[in-house]
Amino acid sequence: MMRDAAAESAAVLSSGVEAATWDGSRWTLRIAGATVHARMLIDATGRAARLARHPPSRLAQADRLVGSFVTLPDGGAMRDTLIEAVPDGWWFATRLPDGRRVLGCMTDADILRRSRLGSAEGWRTALAATRFARLHWGGETVTEAPCLTAAGSRGLRDRGPGAFLAVGDALCCFDPISGLGIVKALRSGVFAAYATADWLRGDMTAIGRYQALAEREYAGYLHTLGDYYRQEMRWPDRPFWKRRHGPSAGNMPQGPDQDRLAAS
Ligand SMILES: Cc1cc2nc3c(=O)[nH]c(=O)nc-3n(C[C@H](O)[C@H](O)[C@H](O)COP(=O)(O)OP(=O)(O)OC[C@H]3O[C@@H](n4cnc5c(N)ncnc54)[C@H](O)[C@@H]3O)c2cc1C
Repeated sequence: MMRDAAAESAAVLSSGVEAATWDGSRWTLRIAGATVHARMLIDATGRAARLARHPPSRLAQADRLVGSFVTLPDGGAMRDTLIEAVPDGWWFATRLPDGRRVLGCMTDADILRRSRLGSAEGWRTALAATRFARLHWGGETVTEAPCLTAAGSRGLRDRGPGAFLAVGDALCCFDPISGLGIVKALRSGVFAAYATADWLRGDMTAIGRYQALAEREYAGYLHTLGDYYRQEMRWPDRPFWKRRHGPSAGNMPQGPDQDRLAAS
């Protein structure tokens, strides 16, 4: 319904933006070979952040969390969502609305590579070593490599030039352990709508205020994330937990693997 209403009052072009330049008063966009002008540009392309990532130095990666998961058919004994901490990260199991089950492990990109969690065999071996997650596996054959996804925390350093806003994961990405990604995406969409309306009415502070609010929220989120991870203290010397317990938690170096997965 919202999409239909938007389409009635706006032009909808379903191709990607090839180039965007700001001349001080409006954007000139190249879309499918055509030129389009816009007063405001909003990036809502999720973790890929197609527009916000130019230049890539604007993205501030806080950690290198990645997910390696498989989707299993309807069945099995899984009732509830499960999270199980393990020495190299944490496993999760959940049921999708259509009954299928998703079973996966979250770890850092370098650990994933070392432990071969990206291969079917490495993934099965790691699952077998869990205490609870393996009970959610109904014995199905897993021969294909699991799906890999970037899942780390990431902020946006600055708002960039001109009338530009990012929303949802394009603005900042939350670790799935927080369970806040969707709420944050919807919330930033609402605030971006207010900021856009204010800006178009001539309030030149609107975008700066929106970005400042986003930065405050992201800083608060990183603080809370540290508190979450510090609740698990069984493996203080394992790299995954050590990185999240120390004073630099939330400020780990950016990994090329994260960026490659996010942009794909
Ligand atoms: C493993 C994992 C588990 C998660 N679990 C949870 C959870 O339990 N609870 C929770 O709240 N959040 C969770 N999240 C986070 C949540 O999925 C995201 O925060 C949320 O989906 C962000 O919404 P979004 O609209 O910003 O981005 P997305 O949902 O990624 O949507 C972006 C859209 O933009 C489209 N797009 C991309 N590029 C272009 C382009 N060039 N042109 C046009 N369209 C484009 C994409 O196709 C996509 O449809 C999880 C994330 C991961 C990785």
